[in-house]
Amino acid sequence: MTSTPAPASAALFDRARAVTPGGVNSPVRAFAAVGGTPRFIRSASGAWLTDVDGFEYVDLVCSWGPMLLGHAHPEVQAEVSAAVARGTSFGTPTEPEVLLAEEIVGRTPVDAVRFVSSGTEATMSAIRLARGFTGRDKVVKFAGCYHGHVDSLLASAGSGLATLAVPGTPGVPASAAGETIVLPYNDRAAVDKAFAEHGADIACLITEAAPGNMGVVPPEPGFNGFLAQTCRDHGALFLSDEVMTGFRATRQGGWGLDGAREGWVPDLMTFGKVMGGGFPAAAFGGRRDVMTHLAPEGPVYQAGTLSGNPIATTAGLATLRLATDEVYAHLDRVATTIRDAASAALTEAGVPHVVQSAGTMFSVFFGAEPVRDFAGASRQDTGAFAAFFHAMLESGVYLPPSAYEAWFVSAAHDDRAVQTVLDALPGAARAAASASDSASDSTPEGDR
Ligand SMILES: *Cc1c(COP(=O)(O)O)cnc(C)c1O
Repeated sequence: MTSTPAPASAALFDRARAVTPGGVNSPVRAFAAVGGTPRFIRSASGAWLTDVDGFEYVDLVCSWGPMLLGHAHPEVQAEVSAAVARGTSFGTPTEPEVLLAEEIVGRTPVDAVRFVSSGTEATMSAIRLARGFTGRDKVVKFAGCYHGHVDSLLASAGSGLATLAVPGTPGVPASAAGETIVLPYNDRAAVDKAFAEHGADIACLITEAAPGNMGVVPPEPGFNGFLAQTCRDHGALFLSDEVMTGFRATRQGGWGLDGAREGWVPDLMTFGKVMGGGFPAAAFGGRRDVMTHLAPEGPVYQAGTLSGNPIATTAGLATLRLATDEVYAHLDRVATTIRDAASAALTEAGVPHVVQSAGTMFSVFFGAEPVRDFAGASRQDTGAFAAFFHAMLESGVYLPPSAYEAWFVSAAHDDRAVQTVLDALPGAARAAASASDSASDSTPEGDR
């Protein structure tokens, strides 16, 4: 699978591979699932990326979600520059942490938050807190949901009869994965069975509020409420991972799509991506009586040298303050336009596909059947996706380089950016139609 030569990116990729495993600092960036040369980006502005060869692309990755307002937003840049001028890290409490915590508590059902530096750290810490609070060890998760590269969450379902999981990667001890139970998503019977067998040992169930890491697979109506109730019935905590959906799917994140209306509240939540405004910042939060178990108030230890960093929290605060109802309405319109045009182009070219969304997040599955779990997502024609991806790239549109990812838009996706995407779609759909089913490997869950 080749595309337009990108000599400067190719040269950097060669040098990168000599000094960094695979040439990248997060696996999905290497284009392994689609082939070809990953583009090294030099700068970005609004909806556009510019690579080191000088090619421009409409960005439908948005740094995997964080850039809700678009790149280099002038007001965010100004706040960040002013913060940098005041000094970059103090190892003391600072005002921006308080303001960002207030903003998050104001938008979500959590009573309190603790800041960390990545989504992985947020879920890892939230699980420790759930275990410390309940005095139990087991964790329930769903296949295809990604919660960062936490040992106990890089687990795969064991063989048919075994409920307990096996390591999802070399390097995870069987003992870490053995405390995890992995279930098929959207499967109430599997949840009931796991809690019937292990309920008294389950510290928490963790789920993406609306999964976006196997492509977008929305919860079936009432599913999250059912999970919350099941946890309550068994004295386990319900942990909703909103690292991707938070402040993105809606103003109130994934919870804004169901919980806010149905009247249930997660015991713990995790946030990241958008709330860092493009800097490393993430958070976990929840019920006050659970959060007070954290050090220094309570006995569960958790800490971080750069946690609540003043530059990161300033960028996050500026981003959330600018993420108004108008911004979410714009994201909705742009997502709908692109989603519908992609579907129309693929239909016209005769490519089997399904478009699924959760609020402003959406993805296109290259298969004929609606997807409700990871097994369904895995039945895609990844060869057709790879051809589609490269045709879009050549037409100046940067899609996620994997069929298992959500597409992201921003407030900066204006008419010119959207038109560039619409113009690229018919040709890419024809490229997908002529690609075989066998071309490339599939990407496993969470390969980023
Ligand atoms: C991205 C993501 C994470 C991990 O966040 P990092 O900052 O990459 O460690 C966790 N959970 C979900 C749902 C995510 O989308």
